[in-house]
Amino acid sequence: MQLSAYQVNGVWQQPTHAEIIDFLTAYAREAQPVDVAVVAPHPDDAEIAMGATISILVRQGLKVAIVDLTNGEPTPAGTVETRLAEAKAAGEILGIDLRVTMDLPNRYLEDTVENRIKVAEVLRLIRPRILFAPYWVDAHPDHRAAAALVEAARFYAKLSKTTMSGVRHYPARIFHFSSNHYRLHLEPSFVFDCTGGMDAKLAALAAYNTQFNTDERQFSEVRAAIESYGRYWGRLIRRPFGEPFFSREVIGIESIHSIL
Ligand SMILES: [Zn+2]
Repeated sequence: MQLSAYQVNGVWQQPTHAEIIDFLTAYAREAQPVDVAVVAPHPDDAEIAMGATISILVRQGLKVAIVDLTNGEPTPAGTVETRLAEAKAAGEILGIDLRVTMDLPNRYLEDTVENRIKVAEVLRLIRPRILFAPYWVDAHPDHRAAAALVEAARFYAKLSKTTMSGVRHYPARIFHFSSNHYRLHLEPSFVFDCTGGMDAKLAALAAYNTQFNTDERQFSEVRAAIESYGRYWGRLIRRPFGEPFFSREVIGIESIHSIL
């Protein structure tokens, strides 16, 4: 897995936006575009919402990137260094190709023109076909902002006659994942059978020591919540586990056989 963060004297560093663009420009020169980009407000949101699906997509041969808009700090038990190291470990467990930790501000994330340009530049360099963003209803302002920001950046990424880095690109599909802070009754557009990815999801979440795994009791509560949600969504599609996804756009299908 390639990683935008880097170490100085063994300590993980948060890259600036300019450093991320340099890193991704080099990545784009060597690598093919990614198939899927999961853009999340904080490290661990992608794993909570769709870690099992990500693991399966990777095993199905898709090239997946996770883009964390912020490094998630400050939190009660974390530091920037530990969060970057945890995100790296979780990404390796899921088998993704690339993880980028952007320098947007945790807690104060906003859908601004400046931030749209930053996210669009990342998209123009990694060129995903499918984009995943947070669900648009949430108690956490960062999550709501991220939903709007990613939708806007998707559009900005296709602009021509611009000074933005990369080449114009429009991710063909955008779906939304749920790692929300509300007690919502969700009505997904589809549920992904993620049964084969649950072990990887739980292992990836356990890698976030400062967030979910400060002691065994904390992680057993996280495991119980993740498993009960997973079983609920799985039950609705008659599979052991599922993860829900949402689309504002109509979803077309090519074969009736891929419907469970
Ligand atoms: Zn979050």
